[in-house]
Amino acid sequence: MVSDPALALLARHIRDVPDFPKPGILFKDITPLLADATAFRLALHLLAERLAPLKPTMIVGVESRGFIFAAPVAERLGLGFAPVRKPGKLPYRRVTETYDLEYGSGTLEMHEDAVAGQRVVIIDDVLATGGTAAGSARLCQKQGAEVVGYGFVLELSFLHGRKALGGHPAVTLLSY
Ligand code: AMP
Repeated sequence: MVSDPALALLARHIRDVPDFPKPGILFKDITPLLADATAFRLALHLLAERLAPLKPTMIVGVESRGFIFAAPVAERLGLGFAPVRKPGKLPYRRVTETYDLEYGSGTLEMHEDAVAGQRVVIIDDVLATGGTAAGSARLCQKQGAEVVGYGFVLELSFLHGRKALGGHPAVTLLSY
């Protein structure tokens, strides 16, 4: 149970979908939260408020559900936004990283000059094993950026994803 009323509102808009995309995975579906104007605005407000003290100069969003939260948080903080994308999507020169995740592995790319020299916060919807976020951090560091923290709507704490984040602060609104 979540005792804070604001967080309880968010929690009521997360739908558990068993055995998606594979048997044994309990998928945390954020689409009910996105569909509710109050819950969506609250999630953006809380992320922006809690990430501002890290003093980022740029917000990085992870394809694709991370974009939904990262771009509006960037706008709220008066900052630019840079995308981490799946392979073959970005048109300009790229940096590439392979990463592990809860159900498989994959490759991520950024434009090689997307966040050079910036203090970045990396945003995604869910922190699971942390492989995606850690891979995104390496992409930023390859460009000489400093990763000052992470933001997630929710974390699956039993997967210990924070251990993959190198001790940098991770803001999560809900923990399961
Ligand atoms: P990870 O790299 O293991 O931390 O996985 C994070 C990425 O996978 C995020 O982009 C999430 O959107 C997605 N993800 C992993 N596990 C789940 C889950 N149980 N429910 C919803 N999304 C998940």
